[in-house]
Amino acid sequence: MNKIKMITPLVEMDGDEMTRILWKLIKEILIEPYVDLKTEYYDLGLENRDLTDDKVTVQAAEACKKYGVGVKCATITPNAQRVKEYNLKSMWKSPNGTIRAVLDGTVFRAPIIVKGIEPLIPSWKKPIIIARHAYGDVYKDVEAAVVKGGKAELVITDESGNKEVKEIFSYKNSEGIVLGMHNTSASIKSFAESCFKYALDSKKDLWFSTKDTISKTYDHTFKDVFAELYETKYKKAFQEAGISYFYTLIDDAVARVVRSEGGYIWALKNYDGDVMSDMVATAFGSLAMMTSVLVSPDGNYEFEAAHGTVTRHYYKYLDGEKTSTNSMATIFAWTGALRKRGELDGINELCAFADKLEAAAIRTVEQGCMTKDLAAIFKSDDVNPVVLDSEEFIRAIAERI
Ligand code: NAP
Ligand code: MG
Repeated sequence: MNKIKMITPLVEMDGDEMTRILWKLIKEILIEPYVDLKTEYYDLGLENRDLTDDKVTVQAAEACKKYGVGVKCATITPNAQRVKEYNLKSMWKSPNGTIRAVLDGTVFRAPIIVKGIEPLIPSWKKPIIIARHAYGDVYKDVEAAVVKGGKAELVITDESGNKEVKEIFSYKNSEGIVLGMHNTSASIKSFAESCFKYALDSKKDLWFSTKDTISKTYDHTFKDVFAELYETKYKKAFQEAGISYFYTLIDDAVARVVRSEGGYIWALKNYDGDVMSDMVATAFGSLAMMTSVLVSPDGNYEFEAAHGTVTRHYYKYLDGEKTSTNSMATIFAWTGALRKRGELDGINELCAFADKLEAAAIRTVEQGCMTKDLAAIFKSDDVNPVVLDSEEFIRAIAERI
């Protein structure tokens, strides 16, 4: 068989622990037999990040910017315990945070849907993709406690030193609390660009919701930025693609989401996205079936699984035990990246291969061959789930390609 040829390399970011083990198996068993794989490899494993003073993470992010498409394995974000465990020079920052800062992107999380793993909300038939604005708001706020009799004011000083003062609250009868948070129009615009781009890419409707009726300047600015960008730049393309942009108040959106059958992108402000993504992921069944893609406003893509390095399984693996770790989301990170590379370089065979690999992975589970986490929630009248170990599951997919 002739292997599918690639033109531009994929930026490949290797990672840690159990997902690093899966990464190698996926490449060897599911991809390299069919694709003449061309990657620019960056080892983001914690040891190498420490060895390079974390420069490798920045280099990988820069490479994503240069080539446009990257695929990333889950990585450890070190805490005090990891600093000891790996004898690190420093408590390095989250690689995902570093990559996001370089690419300035929005993260889209989408569940993989298979028959037998049914969402907790029975009307959901298609994925609901959550887009979370990952800048500002309560995550970069300033908070204070205020004593009784005190007063909190909002002071805005312009470049020439002119001050505008607004009273927030006078704490005449009780002590209390106050917080200040911010956002920038540039960041909101980047967020909106990424959302419109991703909607066009995936040919899905885009929903956006805030609390603009109550927050008449803050949230309303989000609404206005989205509306203006849609009218001036994306409306025609949306009409041609047969998709729509829909804005509604967040309470109304929540009610509609629960009643919907899915199949759209739901864009949310930072805090709303934090909360709603956990709700949606849980309701779709399993974190191990959740994929994630970072899309930058200038059109760079970084694909990964939403879950972590599955540490508990890795320690078993190190003890020589067989693990049954689910590789679906990591496989879909690879197929997402290969398909995008195929689209950008005009290699139809590469896109078709990505489709086939995804279909084979879904069929494997639907025919009853799956990892332990899925077997525990699999429901079917005529298929009895068989639990496979990590490698057996990947080989079962290979048989079906
Ligand atoms: P995790 O790796 O997602 O695992 C949490 C638990 O969820 C696992 O112990 C396992 O449950 C289950 N699970 C997750 N993925 C699974 C899979 N593919 N197959 C089967 N079961 C799966 O989260 P964590 O334990 O909180 O974090 C571990 C490390 O990952 C940390 O060092 C953290 O910094 C890192 N992390 C990285 C990323 C990223 O790179 N994007 C994201 C999150 C966390 P059972 O043990 O019950 O089987
Ligand atoms: Mg959360």
